[in-house]
Amino acid sequence: MRVAIAGAGLAGLACGKYLVDAGHQPVIYESRDVLGGLVAAWRDEEGDWYETGLHAFFGAYPNMLQLLAELGISDRLQWKEHTLIFNQPEKPGVLSRFDVPDIPAPFHVILAILRNNDMLTWEQKIRFALGLTPAMIRGQKYVEAMDKYTLLEWLRRQGIDERVNSDIFVAASKALTFLNPDEVSATIPLTALNRFLQERYGSKIAFLDGSPTERLCQPIVDYITARGGEVHLLSPLKEFLLHPDGTVAGLVIRGLNGRSDYVVKADAYVSAMSVDALKALLPPAWKSIPFFQKLEGLEGVPVINIHLWFDRKICQVDHLLFSRSPVLSVYADMSNTCREYSDPHRSMLELVLAPAQAWIDRSDEEILDVTMAELRKLFPQQLTGDNPARLRKYKIVKTPRSVYKAIPGRQPYRPSQVTPIANFFLAGSYTMQRYLGSMEGAVLSGKLAAQAVAAYLSQTAQTTPVAVA
Ligand SMILES: Cc1cc2nc3c(=O)[nH]c(=O)nc-3n(C[C@H](O)[C@H](O)[C@H](O)COP(=O)(O)OP(=O)(O)OC[C@H]3O[C@@H](n4cnc5c(N)ncnc54)[C@H](O)[C@@H]3O)c2cc1C
Repeated sequence: MRVAIAGAGLAGLACGKYLVDAGHQPVIYESRDVLGGLVAAWRDEEGDWYETGLHAFFGAYPNMLQLLAELGISDRLQWKEHTLIFNQPEKPGVLSRFDVPDIPAPFHVILAILRNNDMLTWEQKIRFALGLTPAMIRGQKYVEAMDKYTLLEWLRRQGIDERVNSDIFVAASKALTFLNPDEVSATIPLTALNRFLQERYGSKIAFLDGSPTERLCQPIVDYITARGGEVHLLSPLKEFLLHPDGTVAGLVIRGLNGRSDYVVKADAYVSAMSVDALKALLPPAWKSIPFFQKLEGLEGVPVINIHLWFDRKICQVDHLLFSRSPVLSVYADMSNTCREYSDPHRSMLELVLAPAQAWIDRSDEEILDVTMAELRKLFPQQLTGDNPARLRKYKIVKTPRSVYKAIPGRQPYRPSQVTPIANFFLAGSYTMQRYLGSMEGAVLSGKLAAQAVAAYLSQTAQTTPVAVA
C-alpha cells in the first residue's frame, strides 16, 4: 500500500526502507534539493565537500549498523582505534587519551578511566566511579528518572568532583547535545555512558568514508526506488488535508519552480520532518489534542559546523578529538579520517561550535575569528610563530534549529511514533526511542514508525471489505 512520508532525513529514509521491506510503496517528499536533513552535505566551487555536521558513528549504534549491512555498505564505515582523545587546555598541543582495552564490558571502560593519569587524580577517579554506581546497577530506569536534573546538578548530588565535570563532562555534554552540563538533562550523557559501559565496542568510533548525502542517503534512496518507492526533492509539504473525523485525507505539496501545488493521497502518512517544522504545519483541528500540544515542549537547538582548509598538515591524528575549548566542541582532521576527503599534505578541519546560542546570529567573520583564536591555543606550533600554516578557505554552516534541545524534563514531551490520528505516524530523532537525538535515534525512529504503519495497514486490509465483481 502507498505511504506518503514528509522529510528525507535519516528518519524518513529509514522509514521508507523498512516500508518497502514490508511490501509497501513509500513516497517521500523532501522540501530541500538535498537528501539527509541534518546529515546533508554539499560540494563547494572546487568540488570539496562541506556538511551540516561533523558526524561520528558509534559501536553502540545497532540499528544504523544493521541498516548499513542490509544495504551492503558496511565497509563504508572507517573504524578508528578504540580510544577517546581530549585536548588539554592547560598543556597546549598535548593530547590525553582514554585507551579502551579489548576486554569484556564494563571493565574495558573502567580500566580506560583508571589508566588515564593526565586528567584526573586517583581520588577524583574513585569518587567518579562511586557516583556512577547507581546508574550501572539500576540501569536505564534510574537514568530516565534523572531527567529532572541538569547534568551539573546530578554530578553535585553524587558528590563527583568538579574537575570530572570540567575535564570530561563539559566535552561529552557539548558533543552529545550541543549544550553545557548546566543546561543538559542528566539522562542524556548517562544514557550514552551506560551504553558505553555495557557494550564492549559501544564507544568505538567510525567515520563515513565520504559525504553522508552520497555515501549513506543515496544508497537508501536507490534501495527504495529499486523496489517501487519514490523520493522527490524540492517537494515541501505545505498543508495536511483532513477528513471530517480528523484523519489525514491528503498532503498538499508546494509546487516549486513554476509548478502548481498538488495533492498527494495515500493509505497512511508519516511526518519525518523536524519537530519545529511539524509544529508549524499542525492543522488547527489537531492543536487541542494533548498529544500534539506536548510538541510545544520541544524545539531544536542551534549549532554551527565549521570547515577550515589549510595549506599544510596541522594535525596527524586519525580520530575524533574533544577540543575542551569553551567555544568549540568536537573536531576532526577530515583529511586523515575520511577516505574521500583525504589529503596527505594539507589539513581540512571540521569543527562543531557549541553551545551556539550566542554565535548563531553573528557573522561568518566573527565565527572564524573566535575559532582561529581557539585553534591557535590547541595547535600553537602549527598556527603561531614565524611560519604559521595558512588558511586557504573556510565554510561555515549554521543550523538555528537542529536536534531537540535536551534540557531537563523533556522526556515526557517526546512523542511516540503512533499518534491519536489513526492514519498518521511520526518519525524523527526527537520522537521517543532510546537513542536520543542522534543518527541512530533517527534510524530507529524510522524503523519503529514503519512497523507501526505496517501494523495499521494490515489491520485496515483485514477490516476493509473486498469488492466482489
Ligand atoms: C552539527 C551536527 C553534528 C551532529 N553530530 C552527530 C554525530 O556525531 N553522531 C550522531 O549520531 N548524530 C549527530 N548529529 C545528529 C543527527 O544528525 C540527527 O539526529 C539526525 O540526522 C536527525 O535525523 P532526522 O531524520 O530525525 O531529522 P532531520 O535530519 O532534521 O530530517 C528532517 C527532514 O525533513 C525535511 N523537511 C522539513 N520541513 C519539511 C517540509 N515542510 N516538507 C518536506 N520535508 C521537510 C528537512 O529538510 C529534513 O530533510 C549531529 C547533528 C548536527 C546538526
